[in-house]
Amino acid sequence: MKYKLNDFLIDGVKAKILAKKYSTPLYCYSLSKIKENIKNFQKSFKSIDPLVCFAVKANPNKVILRQMGKLGLGADVVSIGELMNALKSGIKPNKIVFSGVGKTSYELTHAIKKNILLINAESKSEILEIERIAKIKKKKVNVGVRLNPNTDAKTLSQISTGKKENKFGIPEKELLNIIIYLKNSKYLNLKCLSVHIGSQILDHAPYEKMLKVLKKIINKTKFKFEYIDLGGGMGIDYENKSKRLNLNRYSKSIKKILIKNKSKIIFEPGRSIIGNAGFLISKVIYIKEGHKKDFIILDAAMNDLIRPALYGSKHSIIPVRKNKKIKKKEIEFVGPICESADKFLNLKKYQAIKENDFILISDVGAYGMSLASNYCFRPKPAEILIDKSIIKLIRKKENIKKLILNN
Ligand code: PLP
Repeated sequence: MKYKLNDFLIDGVKAKILAKKYSTPLYCYSLSKIKENIKNFQKSFKSIDPLVCFAVKANPNKVILRQMGKLGLGADVVSIGELMNALKSGIKPNKIVFSGVGKTSYELTHAIKKNILLINAESKSEILEIERIAKIKKKKVNVGVRLNPNTDAKTLSQISTGKKENKFGIPEKELLNIIIYLKNSKYLNLKCLSVHIGSQILDHAPYEKMLKVLKKIINKTKFKFEYIDLGGGMGIDYENKSKRLNLNRYSKSIKKILIKNKSKIIFEPGRSIIGNAGFLISKVIYIKEGHKKDFIILDAAMNDLIRPALYGSKHSIIPVRKNKKIKKKEIEFVGPICESADKFLNLKKYQAIKENDFILISDVGAYGMSLASNYCFRPKPAEILIDKSIIKLIRKKENIKKLILNN
């Protein structure tokens, strides 16, 4: 992904051509970038040979999931919809883990029927419910238990999941009692200790703290967990500050735990696998000159990409065609929706830009389209995947007439 003669290319294809052919807003993914991310992830953890289960919530497109399966990944799902989607996309049940605090009886029954690798339970009530269903089905079900390690992931509060005030996981003391209960259960097979402290983590220290708590649990219970599921959360460099999580260092810390315990490590990464492989191409509809700043009104809005409105996240915005004229007036890239939160980025200077130009919003491969909605009756955008210059339409733009018909 680079400029060639001032035109931005995604896997060898001019973004301008994509914008014109498929109309905007348009999600574009680079398969070579996804493959590169998976390769780097696996290389960093080579010595612990983990099972990597892609967090489907990051990007549930079925063509993408099929690719993940082909590349050897399993899936981390959080709803029956994601489970069915992963299975339909060819991911084998023995590579699927089911997370989440509120799995319903219906969802649990389906997961049990499909013989997935693990249901990671997050409360005593959930464990009792899985046991009740297992007894009816006369089955021994493989479960994990999710620890709440009371660890601050030092990330946004909305995506922090490992502190005691968060709804996720089971606190240490209660978990010890649950493990005793599970050891004696006729219908549940305790296989895994799981944890996930949050998302977009760029600092090594929280993971180190989390591992300490995990080690304490293992030592206290002396239970031989077949799996240790460390969740996901590895952050990416949204703001081009070159801040990166040191995966090799994380790998070394995990290895120390494995010296005594021969458990298989599971990871559930989402963002680090696909985040930087996606762009949202958008057209400048109007430019509205303001007193102190100009508003660049795009045809993409908060319904297409909600991260900036929801979390105040900053995604770089790059021109589809570069020029050398720099304008020093402040600009704000905004969407057309009637909410002041419908904005993407403020910049002090930018290259000269005009109506009908195209821009790309970067790093939207994860939690972009998966969080898109029909707010303001706007159809969700199309998605394309580029594989060595070959363009595949992997999701058509929603049809407004159908949206109205289904209303
Ligand atoms: N696993 C669980 C249980 C999660 O809740 C999440 C994200 O919320 C993930 C994995 C994926 O996290 P990330 O995309 O940050 O790797």
